This record gives sequence, structure tokens and C-alpha cells, in this order.
Amino acid sequence: MSEREVRTFCRVCEPACGLVATVSEGRLEKLLPDREHPVTRGFACNKGLAGIEIHRDPDRLDFPLRRAVDGRAERVSWDGAIDGVAGALRALIAEHGPNALAMYVGNPSAFNTLAGPAIGAFGAQLGTKRNFSSGTRARSTRFPILRTPTSCSSSARTRASRTAASSRSRIR
Ligand code: SF4
Repeated sequence: MSEREVRTFCRVCEPACGLVATVSEGRLEKLLPDREHPVTRGFACNKGLAGIEIHRDPDRLDFPLRRAVDGRAERVSWDGAIDGVAGALRALIAEHGPNALAMYVGNPSAFNTLAGPAIGAFGAQLGTKRNFSSGTRARSTRFPILRTPTSCSSSARTRASRTAASSRSRIR
């Protein structure tokens, strides 16, 4: 049996804790904290270490599914899934314009090195100007303060104004 250790990291949240995966004949056998990782030095929480259970879960989705007319989820090929999504996006753009579509980046994709640029490039190709994030969501709740200037002090209005300007600069 060929067994090897592979250095990897947890994708669940920002620390990206170092892990060591033991792989045997293409199968993940063990997942442990990486004591030699220069930053996390052997720390990994239960969520990260439970990655092996998620990996092996019989309900894990390893291929595309499409909702059939009768409501069943049916397996389709990757090419079929991509064609289906592309056709639906084209139809939306044709009927409502590109800004009917929006990009959204939240955890864990926000700190994924390649996901952010890929999502931005995809949005640019589609032609949409709508680009949102978990930051947009968290901050937009403060906008109503600006609409009711008499209901708060001038210092609170100034703070809210700065927050809104900062948020707007992140929304393209
Ligand atoms: S091991 Fe825990 S703390 Fe570390 S990245 Fe994963 S979920 Fe986050």
C-alpha cells in the first residue's frame, strides 16, 4: 500500500490552518494539524479536522445535478451543466441587461487567492457592474441613518457619512 503525507491547509476560514493529509492509493485516510506550519504551528480547530468527514460524506456533491421538470435532481455532465447555466445567463442578459446579474464574494471565497480575481473577471465578461461582498451587506444597513439626518447627532451623521463613502468606494 503506497501511503504518503501531503501538506495542505484548511479552507474553512481566514487562518487557513496548516494540515497534513495522509493519502493512501488516492484516498484521504487521515487529517492532522501541521506542527511544522510556520504560522499555525500545529493548531487546527474541530471544524478543520472534521474536513475528513465532509470529504467522505456519502451526500457530498461530486458532480452537477439539475432539477428535472418533475422536481427530481438528475445527474448531468459538466459540459451539460455549464451549457445549461450559460444558456440561462444569456437569456437573462438578453431580457434584462447585464446588470440583472451580480457577483457576490463572501467567506470562504473572499480570502481565496484565485477566487476573487476569477469572480471579478467573470463579472467583467458578463458586463455587470454589480459586485457585492459580505462587507457590502454588513455596511449597507447603516445607509438608512443618512436618510434621517434629524434623528441623529451631527457627529453620528459624520461617522455614518464616512462609513457610506468607504462602502461606496468598494462597490463598483
Ligand atoms: S482549522 Fe478551524 S480555525 Fe483553522 S482555518 Fe480551519 S476552520 Fe478556521
